[in-house]
Amino acid sequence: SDVGSQKERVVTEEEWLQKWEMGNIGFHLEEGHPLFQKYLDVLLNGRSGLRIFFPLCGKAVEMKWLADMGHSVVGVEISEQAVKEFFSDHSLPYCEEPVHEISGAKMFQSTSGNISLYCCSIYDLSSSIVGKFDGVWDRGALVAVNPCDRQRYASLMINLVEKNSSYLLVTVSYDPNKYKGPPFYVPESEIKSLFG
Ligand code: SAH
Repeated sequence: SDVGSQKERVVTEEEWLQKWEMGNIGFHLEEGHPLFQKYLDVLLNGRSGLRIFFPLCGKAVEMKWLADMGHSVVGVEISEQAVKEFFSDHSLPYCEEPVHEISGAKMFQSTSGNISLYCCSIYDLSSSIVGKFDGVWDRGALVAVNPCDRQRYASLMINLVEKNSSYLLVTVSYDPNKYKGPPFYVPESEIKSLFG
């Protein structure tokens, strides 16, 4: 299929911030994503106390669920509004602190300590800042990344995961000539070449 029509498309950080300001967040699922429940066992694989990463996290409710199960959750999100809404939606007290390695970045952490949300661009993160993860929930993340940044995104994600990690990836399939995205259409063949 032809993804040529989406290859050049760029959504700026400013546009994402505006979506949050306007409440233009049709991607947010109040009840979580059905595939999360379906594949949760694959993500956890019977293990407890995992470190789970949520790239481009928005205010995904699955972060709360995993924390309630005893795992530790790290997310990254460019919109401070989204991060604050996450904590207020769940009535979770939090504190915020600067991230010294990244200028302008802040980290919001639940008082209980098991949810840490970095407010910055994902491209500013590295394993020396956030460590490595046992699991990833990638929904609305790879498909939200600008097509020109996919390679960079995938390389970073590969760097952020432990050897024995599970990576759940949700994509969408549709005719990219009929909708400009995001979410963008990422063909299976491209996913294979990005992640190997
Ligand atoms: N994964 C979430 C949100 C999907 S929408 C969910 O399932 O609901 C994509 C999110 O990525 C938006 O909230 C947007 O503000 C954020 N975002 C876009 N570019 C980003 C970047 N470079 N770094 C961090 N967050 C980004």
